[in-house]
Amino acid sequence: MEGINRMEHLKNYINGSWVESSSTEYADVLNPANQECIAKVPIGLQTAEDVRKATKAAQEAYLEWKEIPVMRRVQCLYHLKQLLESHKEELAITITNECGKTKDESLGELQRAIENVEVACGAPMLMSGDIIEDIATGIDEMMIRQPLGVTACITPFNFPSMIVFWFLPYAIATGNACIVKPSEKTPKTMGLLFKLIDQLDIPKGLINLVHGAKESVDALIQDPYVKAVSFVGSTSVARYIYAECGRHGKRVQAQGGAKNPIIILPDAELDLTAKIVADSVYGCAGQRCLAASVVIRVGDEKNSIKDSLYESVKQRTVGYGLNEGVSMGPVISPESKDRITSLIEVGKREGASILLDGRTHKVPNYEYGNFLGPTILENVPIDQTLIKTEIFGPVMSMISMKTIEEAIGFVNSGAYGNMACLFTSSGAHARLFRKEAQAGNIGINIGVAAPMAQFPFSGWKESFFGDLHGQGKHAIEFFTQTKVVIERWPNHWSRKF
Ligand code: NAD
Repeated sequence: MEGINRMEHLKNYINGSWVESSSTEYADVLNPANQECIAKVPIGLQTAEDVRKATKAAQEAYLEWKEIPVMRRVQCLYHLKQLLESHKEELAITITNECGKTKDESLGELQRAIENVEVACGAPMLMSGDIIEDIATGIDEMMIRQPLGVTACITPFNFPSMIVFWFLPYAIATGNACIVKPSEKTPKTMGLLFKLIDQLDIPKGLINLVHGAKESVDALIQDPYVKAVSFVGSTSVARYIYAECGRHGKRVQAQGGAKNPIIILPDAELDLTAKIVADSVYGCAGQRCLAASVVIRVGDEKNSIKDSLYESVKQRTVGYGLNEGVSMGPVISPESKDRITSLIEVGKREGASILLDGRTHKVPNYEYGNFLGPTILENVPIDQTLIKTEIFGPVMSMISMKTIEEAIGFVNSGAYGNMACLFTSSGAHARLFRKEAQAGNIGINIGVAAPMAQFPFSGWKESFFGDLHGQGKHAIEFFTQTKVVIERWPNHWSRKF
């Protein structure tokens, strides 16, 4: 992998080769800790031409790949797992340098990526069909799963390595080809991952990397070879992708934004809860689709949990994610930092009080970084902007409610449904919450209810458009189409030899 770090203008990987984009327009990729330009990524209208080359190559590779038995297809995933394991360190450094999260957080997302590769290795079992012998006299009926063809995967900036693995290994294991379009804000990690993919024994063109932004996404959706689109990003774009895929007759799964509530009951274990909740709100500087954003304290003992949360939050060390002892990195861009600081101001104007203000936080030697300290707002009015808007930054909005029923009602009134969590030592309350909360990922005494690779990443409401999610069996289903065969072989046709 030597040389990749010096690469200035990022290349596409099409038909098994590194190729320059057809576009002459490039955007800077900036390290959010110091604004240093670490690469240039192709963008603009001409990236659509790159997409066309990639889909053509992918279609040819697909025709070859689908004929290869699934047991042989998954061998490339075993190899990919080994390569990911042995390149974790340099991948983690690249993730931190382009995305801002701490190195431990980068290693954490790589682990989740690897686990998805492991689960997809089970495709020989996971994609098996059903058969009923003698559904009628002399008649058998079976359902088999077949691949779709060329698939596309469009990812956001905040998990530059993990998210593509919610889809890609399953698409390949089930016999499809794939084109990956990473975020233009964090495209370097994908370049490194493709240096590993380049070492796999697979047909040329089976897995392709195309850079770009809206133009390459539109070209993918409109391309006749592309049969299915997996998208993860903000809700407005997810909704657009879903509608466009519908218009162009594509199978689609589009995961969107979030606004995740956490309810704390008076019987929750104080210190543990405070630590877990703080990790959920401020991990990855709040730039996780499963970051807790609204904390609802139930009952009268409001101050003790507030004090524990405050103490836990204050202990965070903000800085450059590769430096020792840093527990929170910068946000992705100056625009993002401005948006978050303005939202805090809006919250204050709308009646919230600021318990901890991270807006002016400075990190010595990193004066150009997009750093924010942790912020806690309390008594945020529940019908106002801060409660409804995805902040995607290190900001906790604290509110109080009298009963668990009131808190669940509040959770269910939100537009999003990515995650909802409850902290309690009561099994009955946990059960009530699990049953009634309207979100697809539920945590009971868990702060980031991220499904393991075996389970679907189950967003609901404005957090997901489609029906089959990423990961596990849902992904296997998404990347295959079912075929039902009914066969009549009457006994009296059998000849004696
Ligand atoms: P984004 O929506 O801006 O970008 C995501 C992808 O869409 C990128 O590849 C980008 O190039 C492309 N894109 C952007 N604008 C487009 C347009 N107008 N038309 C077509 N394509 C377009 O998201 P982001 O800022 O990179 O990521 C953060 C968002 O992603 C947050 O809202 C977060 O909650 C969400 N997210 C959701 C999940 C989940 O599982 N639900 C996981 C991670 C992130």
